[in-house]
Amino acid sequence: MKKIKSSLPSQKDLEKEIGEYLSEKYGEKVKIISTGFFPHADRFKNESGKGQIAQKHGFDFSITPEELIEYLDDYVIKQDNAKAVLATKICTHFNRIRYALDHPDQVRKNIGQVKSNVMLIGPTGVGKTFLIKLIAQRLGVPFVKGDATKFSETGYVGGDVEDLVRDLVTQSDGDIERAQYGIIYVDEIDKIASSPNRIGADVSRTGVQRALLKPMEETDVDLKVPHDPISQLEAVEHYRTTGKREKRVVNTKNILFVMSGAFAGLEDIIKKREQQQSIGFEGTICSKKESGRFLKHVKAEDLVQYGFESEFVGRVPVLTVLDELTEDDLFEIMINPNSSVVVGKKHDLMAYGIAVLFEDDALREIARRAINEQTGARGLVSVMERTMLPFERRLPSTDIKRIVVTSEAVRNPEAEVAKLLEDDNYKKQQEDFFDACMSREQQRLADFILRTLSNYLEDHDILATPARITLMAQHCFEQNMETHDVADMFVELIEEVRLCEQEISEKCDLPIVFSEEAIDRVLSKQPRSIVGIRGVCEKLLKEYEYGLRLLSQKKDVHQVVIPAEGVDAPARFINNLVEKSFGL
Ligand code: ADP
Repeated sequence: MKKIKSSLPSQKDLEKEIGEYLSEKYGEKVKIISTGFFPHADRFKNESGKGQIAQKHGFDFSITPEELIEYLDDYVIKQDNAKAVLATKICTHFNRIRYALDHPDQVRKNIGQVKSNVMLIGPTGVGKTFLIKLIAQRLGVPFVKGDATKFSETGYVGGDVEDLVRDLVTQSDGDIERAQYGIIYVDEIDKIASSPNRIGADVSRTGVQRALLKPMEETDVDLKVPHDPISQLEAVEHYRTTGKREKRVVNTKNILFVMSGAFAGLEDIIKKREQQQSIGFEGTICSKKESGRFLKHVKAEDLVQYGFESEFVGRVPVLTVLDELTEDDLFEIMINPNSSVVVGKKHDLMAYGIAVLFEDDALREIARRAINEQTGARGLVSVMERTMLPFERRLPSTDIKRIVVTSEAVRNPEAEVAKLLEDDNYKKQQEDFFDACMSREQQRLADFILRTLSNYLEDHDILATPARITLMAQHCFEQNMETHDVADMFVELIEEVRLCEQEISEKCDLPIVFSEEAIDRVLSKQPRSIVGIRGVCEKLLKEYEYGLRLLSQKKDVHQVVIPAEGVDAPARFINNLVEKSFGL
């Protein structure tokens, strides 16, 4: 989500205010003449290192851990511990960078300082990648993902790790500086642990671990790869466009490494250690119920025991364990309005002009089926695809434009589609059902927005009025947009209304303020866009201009507050106001 900071007054505003102050003090003879003296607000930000880097690359390093956790909560179900640890450590990592950029003279050269590289332990499909992707997106830093098994398969030790660093540059459109603040995610890291019972293959596994050590700490990675013709060509192109034949390297000092894996068998190692430590502790193999309980107690020494070199473990100081997801969790994931599984499927059908709603029972049935796949939330996508395929195949060539997916449809999608196509009564009945479900869905969206985005709106001095929240929910529903994106959009629209407010005030020589209800009326007009808002305000200005100019001449009128009816019926409103003020 883009964070829009409350804006400083514009140069014009400052000049106007100072001008007014000077006229009041010295009379009309003293005037301020614009010399372009006042720097643009953005230039203030540029003065610090943070401003330059952050602004140049669109990073948001000023976020606090609590804000980041709140953001993750809007998307990720469960995993509270992982959210807290990741948000805190990753925030600290980037804030430390920000601080160093802001205070280049004050920061001590802390040799040997360990980066907050992260190890995520947990089964497949529980949100490991999702969490890191969301964090990277929120901070605006580039993100790449690779697979540790590929490193060992090629036998080309080290090359692949460096390829990931180079991928960050590609992700950053060739901008090396931007790439140097990226996040590299290496999955299946458990597969490069050496196993105590194996000889031979372990040489390369340990080799891969060693190859990772340097990039994880700090090293320069050359953009040019001797055996890769593309990177050679890129170097030639760089020389052609810049005339410089410099060595182009990416420094990994600020790149954060996140490793992840399922770590089968790790739990037994932890359990054994704990048993040895606590005398009289009973039990050998974990029962199903207690599975995962010991994992939470994981320590660096357990990873060494698992087959990692201690130098490697030492460079990954943040360990966190993610929980397995239950059927209820999968259901929760799907009823979250930002669920990519449901939103994605709605988008697929929206492309054919078909609106689709899912009954809660249908989502429960999908969750029940997905849990059997034993791939965590990934199972949801495959069940969803299987369920919706007959709808997606057959409905685009019919006139059916609204459907509600029921639990029966999940159990037998082919039969449901056939019934919709053959039975006109059923089709009509389903359309009515869609309308009934739609209001429930919008209410749910409104509740979600109110719960999750009130603080965000407040930060931008925007009241979460019921009408506004309803409009946002409607917009989310109709456009199938994410709630955060809609909130961003409304913030921009309301800021535009306020800008128009100022412009009308200046044009008519009388300060006007739109009431909250009036703003909501403006927002309810279509098209809901900056251009749309401008259009509405221009029409209002035309209606108001003459009346407001008259009012501006009255000594006792200092400001006009426009109520809702001032937007609904502008001519009547302004006429009434003028008549009342002039006692007509
Ligand atoms: P892994 O743990 O294997 O890295 P992912 O994070 O890639 O799994 O999860 C796959 C997809 O499943 C995600 O893109 C997301 O849509 C969904 N998902 C997984 N875990 C969660 C969760 N805890 N909350 C919400 N969605 C989730």
